[in-house]
Amino acid sequence: MRVTDVEVIPIAHTLPEGEGLGDARGFGRSRSTSLLRVETADGQVGWGEAFAPGSVVAPVVDEFFRDAVVGMDPLDAEGLAAESYTDPYHFGASAFVQSALSGIDVALWDLRGKEAGEPAYRLLGGGRRETLTAYASTMYFTEGEDDAAEQVRAAVDEGFDAVKIKIGSGTDEDVRRARIARETLGDDGRLMVDINGNYRPRQAIETIKALEEFDVAWVEEPVPPENYSGYREVKSRTDVPIAAGEAHYGRFAFKRLIDDRTVDVVQPNLGRCGGLSEARRIADMATTENVAVRPHVWNSAVGLAAAVQFAASVDDYPHVRHVPEPMLVEFDRSDNPLREEILASPIDPSGGEVTVPTDPGIGVEVDEEAVERYRADG
Ligand SMILES: [Mg+2]
Repeated sequence: MRVTDVEVIPIAHTLPEGEGLGDARGFGRSRSTSLLRVETADGQVGWGEAFAPGSVVAPVVDEFFRDAVVGMDPLDAEGLAAESYTDPYHFGASAFVQSALSGIDVALWDLRGKEAGEPAYRLLGGGRRETLTAYASTMYFTEGEDDAAEQVRAAVDEGFDAVKIKIGSGTDEDVRRARIARETLGDDGRLMVDINGNYRPRQAIETIKALEEFDVAWVEEPVPPENYSGYREVKSRTDVPIAAGEAHYGRFAFKRLIDDRTVDVVQPNLGRCGGLSEARRIADMATTENVAVRPHVWNSAVGLAAAVQFAASVDDYPHVRHVPEPMLVEFDRSDNPLREEILASPIDPSGGEVTVPTDPGIGVEVDEEAVERYRADG
């Protein structure tokens, strides 16, 4: 099986005026991402997602990857990450090279699985679990009326008992939002908070201490992703698990988070971290250092499917036998047709649990007609 073509398909969706969604860094109305469609000589098609705009991903693929990938056997996928640090050399660790690599790598794993008749998680080392715990990402800052409680209630009504909310606009407001979320979710639900890197360490520490009464399962990106010393300071002075990884690219960046347990939870995004090959290396480093691995997902359905396959394969070691920690996978609850409409059957998190697809490859069938409707270059 040899690759004959690599296509970058930019897709996008824009929310209506006034309905933008916010995190601590500001509001956004449009989402753009890139699907990678990789075809082989025998007509097989593999799909991946580079979680970055197509206007950036397409030239990166052309400049750095196309020559290596066309003619390649998908069985050689794992070598592409090393190549990405060797050939683009000065640019290998960059966000856009790693994003492009992610999309290609996942598409190659999809092809490997289809060729072998096996789901990707089995080829990644075997299934550790058949179901995953879905958590809802919700309680965004909104441009319109403050409907914070309503957003959490909607997730609870869908059956989620694990929820992540946006905070990061000042300690008093953080406490107000966490209280609303905890009251709506109930005492037994799992609550995570996300600061999107908006604080300096001192502010993050103040907020995290103020949130202790709400039994927070993790605080995500308390300080900017680049601020490793800030992470160490926050972690040493607080007593709530710290998570990061959605804005980290490639194994070397993750190594800095994992070394000395700078964070408690790493969150590789399968459309950015370098793909399934690199995510597996990251997971091996993390579990070796007793750091938890919980994929970040704000992608289209293709990146989500890759995250589900990855999560199914991550080792539980070190075991937490008597207080088991579920493998959590993120399900953003904001309006996003790129997540719901481009698969023949979307992955369904209702009830707060996801059954890992066992079909070959990344386990899903892309609806190419639906993809065309969201194409951003047509
Ligand atoms: Mg986040």
